[in-house]
Amino acid sequence: MAKIEGKEHPSVGLFRDYLRIRTVHPNPDYDGAIAFLEKLSTEVGLPYKKVEVTPGRVVLIVSWEGTDPKLKSILLNSHMDVVPAFEDQWRFDPFAAQKDEEGNIYGRGAQDMKCVTIQYIEAIRKLKSEGKRYLRTIHLSIVPDEEIGGQNGMKKLTEHEAFRALNIGFALDEGLANPTDAYTAFYGERNVWWVIVHCPGSPGHGSRFIENNAGEKVRRVLNSFLEFREEEKKRLNSSKCLTLGNVTTVNLTTLKGGVAYNVIPNELIASFDIRIPPTEDLQAFEEQLKKWCQNAGEGVFFEFFQKTMSDKLTSTDLSNPWWNAFSSACREMDMTVQTEIFPASTDTRFIREMGYPAIGFSPMNHTPILLHDHNEYLNEKVFLKGIEVYSHLLPTLASVSHLSGEA
Ligand code: ZN
Repeated sequence: MAKIEGKEHPSVGLFRDYLRIRTVHPNPDYDGAIAFLEKLSTEVGLPYKKVEVTPGRVVLIVSWEGTDPKLKSILLNSHMDVVPAFEDQWRFDPFAAQKDEEGNIYGRGAQDMKCVTIQYIEAIRKLKSEGKRYLRTIHLSIVPDEEIGGQNGMKKLTEHEAFRALNIGFALDEGLANPTDAYTAFYGERNVWWVIVHCPGSPGHGSRFIENNAGEKVRRVLNSFLEFREEEKKRLNSSKCLTLGNVTTVNLTTLKGGVAYNVIPNELIASFDIRIPPTEDLQAFEEQLKKWCQNAGEGVFFEFFQKTMSDKLTSTDLSNPWWNAFSSACREMDMTVQTEIFPASTDTRFIREMGYPAIGFSPMNHTPILLHDHNEYLNEKVFLKGIEVYSHLLPTLASVSHLSGEA
């Protein structure tokens, strides 16, 4: 995988071409991306099919058949879409895939996660060109709309019969870069709760001491929620063993209400973005929220705009044959792997919800975490190393021998 002197590695060229396709919200060029990936799959000799999971939303499924296609397969998931970029804050045009003198390739999606899609395909190309073939079938699912919640992308795919037909045993999906020599593997995701708290009260003239007013209630709500936030922040900083994925974050995101500067409003509304580890007692936490609202005063209540209730974790015990395969392949390559709970959410949650073991993993070490940030980049050497990583991982995963219950 060494860089050919003076000439760019063809896999890097493909990665840069893919970055130039503007699959950016709110009007992603999915047709362009699918046409590009269809051409690439054909070139590598991989059959594919297009599944329209909802009108206008197509998932591309690319397959490399194993020697025993009846066995459970390996799913390699990735999303095509990227988040918007504030172009004036970037060093280069975020859709030009410019490479600097150090080999850093700048582009929206360079880390999240166009690199991974190309790495999956290029690893398979390499293995196929060496005449290799493995026991289990490997499927790639390349999906739309992850960055806007996945409801019309991965969620719909998991409900589609085409998904069941994949007969999945284990899945890989996206992870995060790691600035150190280590790589990070994610075995779970925090739950997302977007909570809207309504604080009704008695209106009146702004010059008086009106009892039961909305402002006092919203103050108590803010105190309870944000004191808890402070405790969790302290807990995170108190131990080196904890990461963001292990604690609950609470952030005030919107405050609404009021009609005039001299009128006490009849309602104030606060909303919070709360992320809760799957290891927490979610029912008990909801009861806690109810208590905070009750204590804030008469009539205070909350509703959910978004609420996930998952306690699904993928076992990182060596008795899990998939994790055993994943981690032993990493060990053979002398990779240090840190296991964490993903702090935000990805499409992996839909896969885990269906009961499949899944690991979030993007092979990017020595790389700052720049997803959704200005100047998102990936170094070409790290990118090429990632192809090598998958060239070891995929054979190991696809060679996991017959499991109990498999024919
Ligand atoms: Zn992503």
